[in-house]
Amino acid sequence: MLTSMLRRLVFASLTVGACAPATTPPPSDALASSLAGKSVLWIGAHPDDESVVSPLFADVCRERGARCTLFVATRGDAGECGRAGGCAPDLATVRVAEMQRAAAVLGARVIQWDLPDVATGTTQDVAARWSAHAGSTEALRAAFLSAVAPVRPDFVFAFDDRHGSTCHPAHRASAGFAGMLLAAGVVTAAQIYLAESRFDIRPDLSSIGYVSAIATNESAQYNGDILLATARKTAWEVMIDGLRAHESQFDARKIAAFAAAPTAQRRVFFASLPDALANANAPGSRFCGD
Ligand SMILES: [Zn+2]
Repeated sequence: MLTSMLRRLVFASLTVGACAPATTPPPSDALASSLAGKSVLWIGAHPDDESVVSPLFADVCRERGARCTLFVATRGDAGECGRAGGCAPDLATVRVAEMQRAAAVLGARVIQWDLPDVATGTTQDVAARWSAHAGSTEALRAAFLSAVAPVRPDFVFAFDDRHGSTCHPAHRASAGFAGMLLAAGVVTAAQIYLAESRFDIRPDLSSIGYVSAIATNESAQYNGDILLATARKTAWEVMIDGLRAHESQFDARKIAAFAAAPTAQRRVFFASLPDALANANAPGSRFCGD
């Protein structure tokens, strides 16, 4: 299956196997500085998914000269229009335009696809729908590599298929695209970072912030309170500007909730692919069932 391929390939690529010790994750500023001037690619399923990387991308794309690309597999057209003025002519058109505006906030370009926006079923169901849309898994792979390989990514950021930050099956399925880049030799496992942020949404929507999915992952994170010199805002505030661009998805109440995130939750978490796998069984990790 598309998504399990990522882990299978990585296990195969690790010469010492699954018992390999974790390499030391880079601290927050080291992670950002390692991306300076590089080609950095985000792979997501929907417009707005980039929020799990956008504080980091706001810094590296706007302030550190990285060339940033956001690959968005679907147009998010299975969702509901949350815009007061409606979503004419249709939700897909509106969300594609919102995605462009959100990318501009980050200083990134978009590769927007129109795969079926499947919100139900399993990760494998989503992967099967996407393959069927392309004609076959091989056709999907060929089309993806043709679209993305020219970006020549130095680093790839994708969801962790064990949780997809929200357990959404399309988030988890989209991790399979990173596996395609790995299998094709476009990047190595060490050049792939998985988004290890989970949302902490207070029941009364008083705040929305991030917590780490991997209990032991304390150093591979980016602190959103860092002030960005060019933007004259914090990275977290730039992320919120990006969310505002997704007007059909984020009303004023949700925006206020992100703005009210506690200090400890105004950060995004990552693990290099080898590190993510080495921490697979960390007690307290927040993964989803299959
Ligand atoms: Zn999503």
